[in-house]
Amino acid sequence: MPLTLDQLNAATPAEAAALLDGLYEHSPWVVEAAMAQRPLRSLAHLKHACAQAVSEGGLDKQLALIRAHPELAGKAMVSKSLTAESTNEQSKAGLTDCSPAEFAQLQQLNADYNAKFGFPFILAVRGPRGMGLPRAEIIATFERRLAHPVAYEREECLRNIHRIAEIRLNDKFGVEPTLGHRVWDWQEKLAQHSDPGFAEKGQLTVTYLTEAHRACAQQLSQDMLDAGFDEVHIDAVGNVVGRYRAAKTSAMTGAKTLMTGSHYDTVRNGGKYDGRLGIYVPIACVAELAAQGRRLPYDLELVAFAEEEGQRYKATFLASGALVGQFDLAWLEQKDAYGVTMREAMQQAGLHIEDIAKLRRDPTQYLGFIEVHIEQGPVLNELNLPLGIVTSINGSVRYLGEVQGMASHAGTTPMDRRRDAAAAVAELLLFVEQRAAQDGDSVGTVGYLQVPHGSTNVVPGRCQFTLDLRAPTDVQRDALVADVLAELQAICERRGVRYSLEETVRAAAAPSHPAWQARWERAVDALGVPLHRLPSGAGHDAMKLHELMPQAMLFVRGQNAGISHNPLESSTSDDMQLAVDAFQGLLDQLATDMA
Ligand SMILES: [Zn+2]
Repeated sequence: MPLTLDQLNAATPAEAAALLDGLYEHSPWVVEAAMAQRPLRSLAHLKHACAQAVSEGGLDKQLALIRAHPELAGKAMVSKSLTAESTNEQSKAGLTDCSPAEFAQLQQLNADYNAKFGFPFILAVRGPRGMGLPRAEIIATFERRLAHPVAYEREECLRNIHRIAEIRLNDKFGVEPTLGHRVWDWQEKLAQHSDPGFAEKGQLTVTYLTEAHRACAQQLSQDMLDAGFDEVHIDAVGNVVGRYRAAKTSAMTGAKTLMTGSHYDTVRNGGKYDGRLGIYVPIACVAELAAQGRRLPYDLELVAFAEEEGQRYKATFLASGALVGQFDLAWLEQKDAYGVTMREAMQQAGLHIEDIAKLRRDPTQYLGFIEVHIEQGPVLNELNLPLGIVTSINGSVRYLGEVQGMASHAGTTPMDRRRDAAAAVAELLLFVEQRAAQDGDSVGTVGYLQVPHGSTNVVPGRCQFTLDLRAPTDVQRDALVADVLAELQAICERRGVRYSLEETVRAAAAPSHPAWQARWERAVDALGVPLHRLPSGAGHDAMKLHELMPQAMLFVRGQNAGISHNPLESSTSDDMQLAVDAFQGLLDQLATDMA
């Protein structure tokens, strides 16, 4: 009989410990501490309570917990002295039948890892979908993590321990994140389409209107139709638009529409979840609604945006931009790296350029816009939280700059006579780092630094650089910008160099609409997941829709410290399940509010 939450909540502390025996390897103190949070509201609540107990347990106990785990494919496996749970996990990952070469490699990695960190390498070998990781991936992860700093790697081991516990808990409670698995599988299938040059290397790249991109659009159309959307079409810029109609009664009275969606293009060698998660989570909800024959009192419109990343053409957000009437016709003449204009690409794809202007939505017909997106940052991962509430999409300003000093002989120019352009930019870079940190939630980056025709024995005469400054509100961003520009001025005056600066991007912050943010908060709270609010450092389609209608976003935790725009981007089917549950919760809340 699977365990139930009621059983656990009603148990004495000793009984509860017995019920969850083996959850944390040889470390019953974790469950004991977590039980102080009873009554537990959900499995997600229990998982977080355990993670919190470990966080609060202190360094000694954390290290003891890590050291209580066996080595991967180590002596304990060979001598068959693993716990039943560990044996199950290591054999699911195929570690019990390593080739002699793989076994030797793992032994070497174990030895190197132990020597560096003083604790064993911990990896949740059943992986993000619970099916078991391929051996080659386990070995690659092992090698990669060997390079981490010690404190970081200790935390990464603890996160993997929580993931191991999560899967063990699912087994104990007889729970499968079925919808999360579906979302995971859909994304895996969509990731089969990749642009030439990348597909061969097993890398994911889908840029605007390539063959792979159009195959994705077809796949998305089919997935929406199969899920039960009433109407699906590809619009004039290549967006895949599905509509799940309201109940008949409200359709006759003119039901408004809730819009949701995210993008299906990717950066070069990107991740499988960036954008796509926000398309498949709503598809999973509609599939459930349709299977139950349920209708909402409003139309749900899902837009899979064709372009967000600005990779093939410099027209970032062209797809969501078109929906708010911001498609710039001058973009049509832009050429890609092969000289193909956007106009030609659109014609080849059979898109009707003349219809683009008609894509602008009438805000009076809409209730609002919601978007689910993988966080693309480390915050939720560090906090052991699967979901986060977005408070605002940061406003940003970008500059392309150059400092001009005097190129001179590196040997003969005394230090006090130099007009070093690169040193001036370096000083600015350090100021940006320190000034942005002062705000707590501002960010500032000098991402590009170049000394044209630089040479080992020449004091840099010119230094080109970029500035990227972002903050959750325009006021905060503008204050940051003002300070950085004033400092640049002061540095240049003091050093006797000049500068030029060109503003290349200015995007207003898009604060979440309070009522819609509150809906996400209620939906997340209903799952027993502690609320965490955070700004979005990255831009998203929601910041475009923001110009027409109220919007709010939900973030989903990313694995591997939340890395994104990288093939290591990852998320678990358990977290995806929670995203589906939160999305469904929001849909239901809205239906109740309108009743
Ligand atoms: Zn994205």
